[in-house]
Amino acid sequence: MLGSGSAGNATLVEDGARRVLIDVGLSYREVTRRLAELEVPPEGIGGVAITHAHGDHTRGAGLLSRRHGVPVHTTPATREVWADDVASWGELACDEPTDICGFRFTPFEVLHDAEAETVAFRIETADGTIGYATDVGCVTANLRSHFSDCRVLVMESNHATDLLQVGPYARSTKARIASTRGHLSNESLAGYLRDHLGRSVRCVVLAHLSRVNNMPELAEMTCREALEARGREDVRIVVSRQDCVAETVDLAAWSAPAHVAPTLSRQALLPF
Ligand SMILES: [Zn+2]
Ligand SMILES: [Zn+2]
Repeated sequence: MLGSGSAGNATLVEDGARRVLIDVGLSYREVTRRLAELEVPPEGIGGVAITHAHGDHTRGAGLLSRRHGVPVHTTPATREVWADDVASWGELACDEPTDICGFRFTPFEVLHDAEAETVAFRIETADGTIGYATDVGCVTANLRSHFSDCRVLVMESNHATDLLQVGPYARSTKARIASTRGHLSNESLAGYLRDHLGRSVRCVVLAHLSRVNNMPELAEMTCREALEARGREDVRIVVSRQDCVAETVDLAAWSAPAHVAPTLSRQALLPF
């Protein structure tokens, strides 16, 4: 993840020279700076996929698209409320797989309070499937079924329920965040992982942490306890950050047969 949180979200999915950004909620300047840290020029981005039309997911998308001719893929509902110009549009439809730069994206609707619909993604790569759900008020049966056979899950761990309740936000804001159309708490994510985590999952990336109502250590500990309760101490946890690029997740690390030495020829990389 190039960055994640209410000040801006952007994630790079990369397989060799094929690169897609999921959301561009950082400014153009900041997203290109963080891509440069990974030695990726902005013209190397082949497509952008947008989850929903909140500014922390769209801020730099228009300029990146116009400057470098990058198509922006989103659902018709999100396009309708989009305020910025883009170089070109790619259409996404819920529950229909679409190829973006060789990755198979299947968007599906989740509960969140964007003006238009919000989607999560199931992304099939040559090295396994990624489940990607950042702004999601609750885990639905539909999300569980899309994520049941993924190798890596990127999921929101927005707030600790107790910290939100005693925190500084207005009562109405607290209610909005905690609602089933708001943001997923550490505890709600833990409940999902404890009761429904798929056997194929090897890594959980915690996303969209609140800087006011959460702490990285607390989110990680809550997640770890849930994985232990599931008997899955082997699952790696990565905590995304708002202010910097998080560590890279290499899907190929889990896809090569155990007796074959990993090669560097083809890897799907997720620099979080
Ligand atoms: Zn957001
Ligand atoms: Zn949002």
